[in-house]
Amino acid sequence: MTEDDAIDVLICGAGAAGLTLAIDLARRGVSFRLIEKMNDPFGGSRGKGIQPRTMEVFEDLGIVDRIAASGAFYPRQREYHGDGSVKDGALFEAGDPIPSEPYGAPLLVPQFLTEGAMRERLAELGHAPEFGCALIAFKQDGQDVTARLANGSEEQTIRARYLVGTDGGRSFVRQALAVGFPGKTLGVRAIVADVTLTGLSRDVWHRFNEGSMEMQISFCPLAETGFFQLQGPVPLEGDIDLSAEGLSALTAERTGCTDIVIQSVSWASAFNMNARLADSYRVGRVFLAGDAAHTHPPTGGQGLNTSVQDAYNLGWKLAAVLSGVPEALLDSYEEERRPIAASMLGLAVRLLEDMKRGEIRRGREVRQLDIAYLGSSLSLEEPKRQARVLAGSRAPDALLKGAAGQPARLFDLFKGPHWTLLGFDMETAGVQPRKGLHIHTIGQGGNLIDSENQFRETYEPAPGDWILVRPDGYVGAVVSQGKLPALETYLHDVGLRAGAVARR
Ligand SMILES: Cc1cc2nc3c(=O)[nH]c(=O)nc-3n(C[C@H](O)[C@H](O)[C@H](O)COP(=O)(O)OP(=O)(O)OC[C@H]3O[C@@H](n4cnc5c(N)ncnc54)[C@H](O)[C@@H]3O)c2cc1C
Repeated sequence: MTEDDAIDVLICGAGAAGLTLAIDLARRGVSFRLIEKMNDPFGGSRGKGIQPRTMEVFEDLGIVDRIAASGAFYPRQREYHGDGSVKDGALFEAGDPIPSEPYGAPLLVPQFLTEGAMRERLAELGHAPEFGCALIAFKQDGQDVTARLANGSEEQTIRARYLVGTDGGRSFVRQALAVGFPGKTLGVRAIVADVTLTGLSRDVWHRFNEGSMEMQISFCPLAETGFFQLQGPVPLEGDIDLSAEGLSALTAERTGCTDIVIQSVSWASAFNMNARLADSYRVGRVFLAGDAAHTHPPTGGQGLNTSVQDAYNLGWKLAAVLSGVPEALLDSYEEERRPIAASMLGLAVRLLEDMKRGEIRRGREVRQLDIAYLGSSLSLEEPKRQARVLAGSRAPDALLKGAAGQPARLFDLFKGPHWTLLGFDMETAGVQPRKGLHIHTIGQGGNLIDSENQFRETYEPAPGDWILVRPDGYVGAVVSQGKLPALETYLHDVGLRAGAVARR
């Protein structure tokens, strides 16, 4: 057993949440270890829906294009009814990209490919998950968390300033903290399997007997893989044969077609649907994120997305506190993210009820673009205003021009670990440059030109307004020129202090 020097953050679990946090901390230069108890990467497709808000997060993390290239947009669905009739339709309401929302529709990417792209990005940043390494015990004091790790028969004790449990629905970290996980088992058991098969085309999502919990079965083609994702409810009790023969027999029974034959099964699972939310996301120096903090039925395609966005909310706050910002900033993680998970749980359960009736249609609410932290202690508006974009709202994209005439997207200006301050129609600037803050002025005499009024129409600023965008792409503050002292206080409180410029 060895005693190492304390690292900043120990991340327990290298699923989507742990990998997101690791990428974010790596690009901020925070020291961490990302441990994963499995010996190999997870190989299943399960969380395959990537929502538009998550695509924006992935753009910031530098992985959106490689993830999009490894999947596709959702195909249309083909419903086969018991009376032999067939109906084609869209699972989602169409959402075309617009300048303020560049990602209109969700992507369909198997989870193992999403996580693979994340590991690639992490490797570019000089890090990798430690597979075969489990957290088996931990304790904390005012300074550190002391954690015991097991790698095969080897054990190691390490110290970290913070521990984040991104260790999934059965979270060891949550249980060790004795944090309650109330909610309910939804009385639905289902199978999910990645299969190759013959007898079905790959251009649509084939859905048989929607609305019947006894006979429903669906086959979703997973682009770029050759697999279909097979899904269907199964009885609550009893063994399910998840072999190719077993799934072929189930398919024949539910579809009435003996020509649909499962050739191979690369991954399969039978699971009970739960809706549960952790009583607390933080105990001292230990945090919960992702499925460790909330489990959803898969009906809304929300779980992986909510998990990624938990980590994205926590990453910059941990980095800020590790560089000297008061600990209280970390309380805003639970304050902001727990209500979001509560409402996602409500949505996923509602969609499950729709699915039982064969009426599932996913609308704008699943795209996660309207998630906002309006009442958060980090949202400052001086004076209060009436507008679509308020302090706490997601900061929309807009296409502007640089003063030299070149195209300039707001999302390109936001990209990276910094904060962004946008001043609109300023007569005098008045905010000092400082480390970690990028300042741009838009309009009269500014360094950006709102040539098509996209900024003005989306953000609805008044002349002299400052709009401060957080590192995670939410509006932190909207402040008029006359209220600059309030902005200065905010900047100071989040660690953006004037004069904090590195000197040689
Ligand atoms: C059938 C199905 C379909 C789904 N469809 C969707 C969908 O369409 N869209 C969507 O957004 N979500 C979907 N989900 C949910 C999604 O898969 C999860 O929300 C997502 O995987 C959560 O990521 P996570 O990183 O929090 O946890 P996980 O992916 O569960 O990762 C946790 C990791 O922690 C590791 N670990 C656990 N304990 C320890 C320990 N003590 N030490 C070290 N490592 C440990 C585990 O091995 C695991 O790799 C679906 C889920 C299922 C089951």
